[in-house]
Amino acid sequence: MATRRKKTVRDVDVSGKRVLVRVDFNVPIQDGTVADDTRIRAALPTIRHLLEQNAKVILMSHLGRPTPENRDRFTMGPVAKRLETLLGKPVTKMDAVVGPEVDEAVAHMAPGDVLLLENTRFEPGEKKNDPELARRLAALADLYVNDAFGSAHRAHASTTGVKQVRPDLPAVAGFLMERELEMLGRVLSAPQRPFVVVLGGAKIADKIGVLRRLLQTADAILIGGGMANTFLKAKGLDVGRSLVDEEATDLARQLLEQAGDKLRLPVDVVVADRFAPDAEAHVVDVAHIPPDHMVVDIGPRTVQAFTDVLSSARTVFWNGPMGVFEFPRFAEGTFAIARVLAGLNQAITVVGGGDSAAAVRQAGLADRMTHVSTGGGASLEFLEGKTLPGVAVLDEIEEE
Ligand code: ADP
Ligand code: MG
Repeated sequence: MATRRKKTVRDVDVSGKRVLVRVDFNVPIQDGTVADDTRIRAALPTIRHLLEQNAKVILMSHLGRPTPENRDRFTMGPVAKRLETLLGKPVTKMDAVVGPEVDEAVAHMAPGDVLLLENTRFEPGEKKNDPELARRLAALADLYVNDAFGSAHRAHASTTGVKQVRPDLPAVAGFLMERELEMLGRVLSAPQRPFVVVLGGAKIADKIGVLRRLLQTADAILIGGGMANTFLKAKGLDVGRSLVDEEATDLARQLLEQAGDKLRLPVDVVVADRFAPDAEAHVVDVAHIPPDHMVVDIGPRTVQAFTDVLSSARTVFWNGPMGVFEFPRFAEGTFAIARVLAGLNQAITVVGGGDSAAAVRQAGLADRMTHVSTGGGASLEFLEGKTLPGVAVLDEIEEE
């Protein structure tokens, strides 16, 4: 049967061409240098491939949330420097996103050159998906590549506009985008069973859609982190001063009824008397959360119960830490789950979400997962079954 998939950089001839690549270089900057270059490294395979194929590589990304007043803190300068080190070759950094200097520099590029445009969000048209900005960007390119999965849920000029204003411009996925679509696609449409989902973190509102969607396909959903508190409260338990999404308690009650035993909640938790790394803390049964305490982690019996469910899983998707892992004393539940996933050699393990990915890296276990998604919001929207605008615009190819 013929299936359709997105075209990738492997499917096109880029030799000698001006290739405009949307990357995700939205990295943390501290004191004028890149504090964590994971995202830059993640784009290297695509950039190196294009260079090996003799393309002229024009890179663009947004960085943070610049305003006209604080622009200096969000310039691409530090990114260009780090990229030069990682690539081992010069990177020409532009002082603008579009304009005569950019046109001029691109006109003088030779195959194998790398140019980085200034922060796309320095242009007000970026977030508005302004067709005029998109046209100026498109004019730089013979071919468009999107390797910024983490920004693909946003319809901005650099993610969707370029292709929308120039439908004839070939538009393909980079390697990172390809891998994200493949791994998350497997979780969404063809999970090997048992399929177990682990959800945690802080904001229920962001995760309700994905929870609803995965309830239809998962064999079990294990809920921890701040998210569990709202469910415990919906069951009538006293959660003291814990983080609770009051607006979501009715919804949580409905989901509990609908899901039956598919949904597993913590049976014990770590409670603290304050939100602080040195708070007084101890383990209690969920029925005995002191009214003046707050839940900060799952307890050891919960870790054991979740481990039992996970041990037979063939597909696992994990989003959201099990506790306040930023404080080492309350990271145990999160790290324990990370260790369980790392030990599942027969299973596909996919981790999504910015903080979850950070926790897995902190535990030193990122390499032991099948896939750690670079997209927070994008991975959740994808798994909700939504079409990501930045993916929708990419060209497709028919495959036998
Ligand atoms: P992700 O980025 O992986 O999608 P979230 O952003 O939803 O995850 O949630 C991560 C945050 O949730 C972390 O900062 C963590 O401290 C917080 N968190 C986890 N458990 C609790 C809890 N019980 N109470 C308060 N905050 C929590
Ligand atoms: Mg987060």
